[in-house]
Amino acid sequence: MDLEDLVTASLRGELKLEDVEYLYDEVDTPTLSEIASRVSDEISGNRVSFVSNLILNYTNICNVRCNFCAFYRTGKESDSYTFSIDRVIEEIEKYYDKYGITQLLIQGGVNPSLDIGYYLELFKRIKEEFPRIGINGLSTSEISFIAKKARITVEELLKQLRDSGLETIPGAGAEIFHEDVRKILGRPKGSEIEWINVMETAHRIGIKSTATMMFGHVENSYHRADHLHRILSLQKKYHGFLSFTPWNFEPGKTKLEESGLVKFRSGGDEVIRNIAISRIAFGRELPIVQSSWLTNGIQMGQLSVLSGANDWGGTIYDEKVIPATGKDVGNLGREIIIDALREIGKVPVERDNLYRTVKVY
Ligand code: SF4
Repeated sequence: MDLEDLVTASLRGELKLEDVEYLYDEVDTPTLSEIASRVSDEISGNRVSFVSNLILNYTNICNVRCNFCAFYRTGKESDSYTFSIDRVIEEIEKYYDKYGITQLLIQGGVNPSLDIGYYLELFKRIKEEFPRIGINGLSTSEISFIAKKARITVEELLKQLRDSGLETIPGAGAEIFHEDVRKILGRPKGSEIEWINVMETAHRIGIKSTATMMFGHVENSYHRADHLHRILSLQKKYHGFLSFTPWNFEPGKTKLEESGLVKFRSGGDEVIRNIAISRIAFGRELPIVQSSWLTNGIQMGQLSVLSGANDWGGTIYDEKVIPATGKDVGNLGREIIIDALREIGKVPVERDNLYRTVKVY
């Protein structure tokens, strides 16, 4: 396929699994960047969105215990924690007005001591106290566990959570869908089907979500292509994914690092390739691809935008999952993001949780 055909097929969301695998295996990074930014320009021109958000990890106690996770605790360690609802409210209060927060990403471990009542009350209180906030809450693992514990279906749980204030579901937990990879990552058997089922149920009843891929561990290009292709297939059913974020695995302090299976984090070239290939694979079907400055810094964020990402992500305050790997992450004020985008000739657009425009800068 020549470049023009590729851009056309991309925009129509017509790339096949083998086309995506070909992009991973055969096409050099500058060419991928060029095609991806052409696709991105066709979709959103020179506008790039960002959101003023807060990430809150309300508990680090988790009974899943994945090999790639440095964040979880069993509950016996001195640094295990679970926030009361009042504590969550206090945390949000610190940032809400000061930073004009419009999105709250709230997720934590799969904590067996919490039940459905905690979450319903939590979301209700958040919406009462901070009406401007769109709640982007709970991973598919948390959702499945809460439903199981309450002995109700995922659909019933999602409806109750929505009535209490949940607006969207974050795409965490997708990692790489292929079961050979998930086995090594220590994800429970069938967890990829669980992820897809929860997302499909949410989309069917009108709850939007995001999607992710975690790369740079034990996967190969087929696994990545297969992952993108499965996301695209689900997207074609309900168009429930608002955005897609590929992010690189942080091995620090994880079992995968301890065992020697993953020695280094994947670097800049891999980040750019994955952003560009996602952009090309999804085309207009999934129009927003997000850069992950949180793990890669502002300069890589800028390069990602120049290679097909059209959303910067969020300002992010109080995130605890990445720091648990030993990696220092900062927070970005709105002004820093605006500057970073203008520096590379883009028009910054502040958006809300549902990707609606709040302000064009
Ligand atoms: S990745 Fe999530 S589900 Fe897995 S151990 Fe960490 S907190 Fe638990």
